[in-house]
Order: sequence, then structure tokens, then C-alpha cells
Amino acid sequence: MDKDEQALTSFRLATSENVQQYALKTKNGAYVKLSASAHALLQAVNNGLTFAEIAAIMTTQQNKSVAAQDVAVAYEKLVKKIKSQEISSTTRLTGFWFTWTILPKAFVKKVGRPLTRLFYPINAALLLISVAAIIAAFLNQPDSWRFMPSFASFALLLLGFFFHEVGHATALLSFGEKPGGIGIAAYWIVPVFFSDVSAGWRLPRLQRIVVALGGLYFQIIVCGAYGGLYLVTKWEPLHAAVVAILVSSLFTLLPVFKMDGYWIISDLLGVTNLDQQRLTILTHLWHKINDRTTKALPWPTLISVAVFSYTLVSVVTAVYFLTQGLALRWPHILAYPSLIFDLLQRLTTKTDTLSFAFLEQIIMETYIVFAIIFALFWFLRTGFHIFKHRWSMLQKPNMSRV
Ligand SMILES: [Zn+2]
Repeated sequence: MDKDEQALTSFRLATSENVQQYALKTKNGAYVKLSASAHALLQAVNNGLTFAEIAAIMTTQQNKSVAAQDVAVAYEKLVKKIKSQEISSTTRLTGFWFTWTILPKAFVKKVGRPLTRLFYPINAALLLISVAAIIAAFLNQPDSWRFMPSFASFALLLLGFFFHEVGHATALLSFGEKPGGIGIAAYWIVPVFFSDVSAGWRLPRLQRIVVALGGLYFQIIVCGAYGGLYLVTKWEPLHAAVVAILVSSLFTLLPVFKMDGYWIISDLLGVTNLDQQRLTILTHLWHKINDRTTKALPWPTLISVAVFSYTLVSVVTAVYFLTQGLALRWPHILAYPSLIFDLLQRLTTKTDTLSFAFLEQIIMETYIVFAIIFALFWFLRTGFHIFKHRWSMLQKPNMSRV
């Protein structure tokens, strides 16, 4: 065994599954989920036992003959699987197809360290009460939900989103785990900030929920600061920023998309890769309906019912968003080819008819058409996966958060 292989040390993963699960951090920072037997095998090898010794132990434990050769083959297969997970990059999360780390982890740690005080219960309580009072005063004004965006308000909003990510990282730090970098990513068609808090897998579920809420906590503190400043200065960009932050906070709590609300539900239920469980549930139900014997679901009944309900609600919501989007945008999609034709015509006739407004329209329409193609692609892909799904020993519980 070389040094590389000895570095495969797994730890207990907090889930609601009936059997204790384990996880392991690969060399490229990705976390993979391991079964109890995979964990035991790795531990035995790490402890310096030979394959023959492990086989002897297994023979007495399982009451059937296990050969050293079988153990060697199983171990090789396991290492190969872990290695294959290392190749697929850590940042390749479902829905994320582009990530760019801007702030390295050392810097995030430096910024987050003094801010961990904000997670002391007494400080958090005082801050939240003050913020609630300011926002109540803000919403109490006439026409408080008006929204007049400007460049300045957009910059303020971005700053709020940035602190949101710092909040996730700081929450993780306050529990003694190391955060990764902060950067920007593309989630489907939406550019987002992200914070790598994968180390949160080492935490108990309740602390993971605090990490998930940490982003919103910081974002709402910034919102309170903007609100207070607005009440004093009446500067309009602050007003627009407060409204945008409040609306986006509600949006991040929607558990349908892979945002904070999703992670909160996932940790509450103790189900890893919750968004992929529709496949597990559907295959399970399909076998049941067809009277076939099938592997029992890994969770207690109550959790299975909750996972099923979550799946149902999220699929229905996603279908609703997609059909609403399509119905609203259908005329634009049909008009898109002629718009492009118009653009080509204007480009080739050399007359100065390329106005800024026209270019803006082209960009907006292109964005919308691509958004819809993306959404359709996602649905087809999901459908395809349902038919192709295979339950594997190794699952990759992704944990970067937006
Ligand atoms: Zn977040």
C-alpha cells in the first residue's frame, strides 16, 4: 500500500438512514458517501491489517468463508471507485456548470474568524431583534414595496449576496471546521455567488442547518444596515436594495432549487442527495406496483414519506414554473427567429439602425430562449435518468452552497 491509499480515512456521516453511513474526503476536495462495510474495509487496511487477516475476521463475523483474494478484489474496486470520484471535479454539482473561486480559503478564514462572534447566541438574538425592528419600521412607510432599481442599488445587492456567502463560511468556522473558497458560479442560467462549505459534512445535522442558515443570517444583517441607513438618509438605491434582499431571501428558502431552503430540508430529514432521491423513490414504487421484491428504502418510514412528499412538491413546482414560463414567453420564442433575421439584416445593410435598445432586446430574448431550452433539457435528462438509474455503493454528497 502506498501513502496515497493510506490517506483514505472515512468518518461517520450524520443521516437519518437506518444504517450508519460514512463519508470520505477525496484528494480533490470532493466528499463521497461510503457504506459501513466500505468504511470498515478502509479502516482495517489503514490499521495495517493484511487482506488475509481481514478475510479471517470476516469469515468469523459473517459465518461464511471469505478468501484473502476476495478482500483484495473488493478493496481494489473500492479504491477505483473513490478515484473515479476524484476525477469528476468537486465543483461539478448538479445544475452548476461553471465555478470560479475568487477568494481563496486562507482569505475566507481570515475574514470569517473575527465574525464568528456573530454566532454567539446572545449576539445573534440582539442582532436579529434590532434587524427585525428596523425592517418593521422600513415596511411601515407608505409605498414600502416600491422597487426603483439603479446601478448603485445593484452594487449594494451584490455586496449583500457576498456577505451571504461569508455567512455560510463563518458559521462553519464557528463550529471548528475549515471553509473553502468563495467565488461565482452559474446555476443553470443564473449567475450566483457560492461558498464551499463541504467540510460541513463532518458536522451533526443541527449544526449543518445552522451553516445553511448562516448565509441568510448575514444577508439579513446587511439588509437591516441598509434599511437603517435609508430611514436616515432617504437615499433611493438603499430602498431598492432592501426590497431586493427581502424578496431574494424568501426565494433562497424555496427548497425546489438547490439553494439554502433545499439544504435545510435535506439536513432536517437527514437525507443526502435529496434532489436525486426521486429516482430511488420512483424505482422503489415502480417495483412495488409491479409486485416485485425490492430493496427496502434506507430511511425510517416517516422520513421516506417526507422524501416522497418533497419529491412530489418539488416536481410539481418545477413543472409549474416551466409551463408558466413557456406560456408567458411562447410568443417571444416564436418571434425569436425573425428577430435574429432582423439583426442580420441590420448588420449587413450597413445603415446605422443598431440602436442600444435593439441590442438590449436581442440579449434579453436570447437569454430567455436559452433559459427555456435549458429547462426543457433538464426535464428530458431527468426523465432519461429515471429509466437508467442504478443504485451505487458510492454516492457523492455535494455540499457547495449558494
Ligand atoms: Zn446560501
